[in-house]
Amino acid sequence: MNTDFVQSASVQDLLDRASGLDTEGGDPRLQHILRDLIESVMTLIVKHDISESEFWKAVTFLQQGADEFGLLVPGIGLEHFMDLYMDAKDAEAGRIGGTPRTIEGPLYVADAPIVEGDVDLSQDADDTGTLYMNGAIRGMEGEPVKGALLHVWHANSKGFYSHFDPTGTQSPFNNRRRIRIGDDGRYAFHSRLPSGYSVPPGGAAETLMHALGRHGSRPAHVHFFIEAPGYRTLTTQINFGDDPFAADDFAFGTREGLLPVPNRQGDAAYIAFDFVLQKADQVDDERFSARTRAVA
Ligand code: FE
Repeated sequence: MNTDFVQSASVQDLLDRASGLDTEGGDPRLQHILRDLIESVMTLIVKHDISESEFWKAVTFLQQGADEFGLLVPGIGLEHFMDLYMDAKDAEAGRIGGTPRTIEGPLYVADAPIVEGDVDLSQDADDTGTLYMNGAIRGMEGEPVKGALLHVWHANSKGFYSHFDPTGTQSPFNNRRRIRIGDDGRYAFHSRLPSGYSVPPGGAAETLMHALGRHGSRPAHVHFFIEAPGYRTLTTQINFGDDPFAADDFAFGTREGLLPVPNRQGDAAYIAFDFVLQKADQVDDERFSARTRAVA
């Protein structure tokens, strides 16, 4: 069978009706996007001659894996694709330079404590070394960014994040802070050194990665949002450049310019890293994406 089958009058009519395009009401943008989405799925069913059994296996996988969509989406490269797409649109609009954006991941928690100065992110003991990170938050002209709020979050030495720790042993907001930055634009923090981590054993993300012949591991990393009046909100992370998975991140979150190699001395690791923000061109630039995020 040829994919022309999807273009037959009866299938095209089905698509119009299924997406609500033949009705008066409904959201027209959603109708058109959903129509294209269903048509794409139909086309791949024909292209790969997907059987009824395979089709229902896929539906069941999605149903059972729903709580791991936040890991599946980066795992199949779609979250990174969104970054590539936004980068390409920025380049077209001449908005280039600054610290690269990269994936947020599913493990941010809103309302972390707001702190100032050279802060300790960790309130829990952890059998690991200490990460010392510092640098400047600058604009494209090199100016110190004033009034910035640096959101930082990372895993513990077991690769678990507070609020999502299956062992239940972490205090709320351990390794999570929002750092209010002074007018000099400098930041500094230290914390219990994070480890890389893998997707949960036996879960949907691991099942899919193994079926693809891939792994579900990430290098050790630290996540950031930076917001500041007049600047574009940045979503990014640094991954440890000397981690075994630095060049092989299952989530595609590692990017050139975001892979500092820590200066390791004993069980301490030092990272100096400057952030460079683009100016905001429009009100939306200062906002966060509308992604639903965990609240403690
Ligand atoms: Fe992470």
